[in-house]
Amino acid sequence: MKFEDYRIAEGIKRSISKLGFKKPTDIQYKAIPPILKGEDVLAIAQTGTGKTAAFAIPILHVLQERKISKRPDGVKCLVMAPTHELALQIHEMFKTLGKHCKVNSFCIYGGVEQDPQIAQLNKGVDILVATPGRMFDLVNQGVLNLQRVEILVLDEADHMLDLGFIKDIKDLMRHLSKKRQTLFFSATINEKIKKIAYSLVDNAIRIQISPKDPVAKNIEHAVAHIEMDHKRFFLEYLIKDHYEKKILVFVRTKVRAERVKRAMTRVNLEAETIHSNKLQREREEIMQNFRSNKLKVLITTDVSARGIDIPNVEYVINYDLPESSEQYVHRVGRTGRGRTKGQAISFCSSEEMDLLQKIEENLNKPISKIEISKNDYTSTIELTEEKTSNDWQALMLDAENPKKRKRKKHKKK
Ligand code: ADP
Ligand code: MG
Repeated sequence: MKFEDYRIAEGIKRSISKLGFKKPTDIQYKAIPPILKGEDVLAIAQTGTGKTAAFAIPILHVLQERKISKRPDGVKCLVMAPTHELALQIHEMFKTLGKHCKVNSFCIYGGVEQDPQIAQLNKGVDILVATPGRMFDLVNQGVLNLQRVEILVLDEADHMLDLGFIKDIKDLMRHLSKKRQTLFFSATINEKIKKIAYSLVDNAIRIQISPKDPVAKNIEHAVAHIEMDHKRFFLEYLIKDHYEKKILVFVRTKVRAERVKRAMTRVNLEAETIHSNKLQREREEIMQNFRSNKLKVLITTDVSARGIDIPNVEYVINYDLPESSEQYVHRVGRTGRGRTKGQAISFCSSEEMDLLQKIEENLNKPISKIEISKNDYTSTIELTEEKTSNDWQALMLDAENPKKRKRKKHKKK
């Protein structure tokens, strides 16, 4: 089936074709019809399979059809997402797909001034994409009314229904009309969270796709045994060996993100970090540079693993193993988006073998191993620029023959 054959507004079809989408992906094929019919949906589909458009297309169509008066009378669709970056990305998809629609979309998140957001809300917003913090602020101040919400979407639903957010989401339900349609989208979900999702809706939920292997086929993922103290040398090697490639590196904490960045800077490799301690403006600028290929290496914590769709990330490196298999799936899922192929490599130290085992158990299969010979392992550690520039012999060489040394420093592999 092609998008042309769908019974949706011509304007939306035009935007779909402008995006270069010809055929719906599996999840789009399965989720669009029930959403158009007004059913509640719980959709589980692998990372990078087009879940955003799977809800954005039918929502735009339905709201466009229902929009009788032009008078603004409140938010009709509320989409919740865990991070600023993801909220903005979803909003962009609504904007692009809805270019020829009368329905408008707006995005709110914290860390920036609220007055311009309030002003826009007063002008009238049909589709609101929001992160929970700022949204509740505005609801509590009485400047955001959600009573007319007809469609609620939780993107990254399992995360939104988990510990940190569940109370907020339950509170939110009290502000919404009972007659609403509820849509849950995610790449991962466990039984406990599934039960919570069911408890939040009256109607039967249609589960669309439940992949046996949660990691998409176009992602090759492997693990290499590398000790903690040696990880930075292997990252250095990998970046130099793939000089023009776009690489996303995941670490466990913000402090470690900064530390790994410093280690790369010491060996003359450009890298940036993104995490919740950074200002919103900085985060946006770094993301923009990474999107546009100006920045090749981005080091991050799990906060950005959810939902972010950056074109052409060729490598995901799990510099530290994640704590859970869900996190693993979301991290490696930043590569191999849509029809592109991707590579993910995890650096697993002896201390992390338990984590690896837990992840493999939950994935129901082992992750393939990269065998590094003793020779290769030792030479990777010894050939680092960090060591050569620190050792006194190299410094002597510098003094004797600065030109030669300089050339070596700038050599690209
Ligand atoms: P998910 O939410 O499932 O992880 P996204 O919605 O972020 O995935 O989409 C992943 C990528 O696939 C995006 O770059 C998007 O533009 C692209 N995409 C979505 N639908 C289609 C389609 N029908 N044909 C081709 N590419 C698509
Ligand atoms: Mg998504």
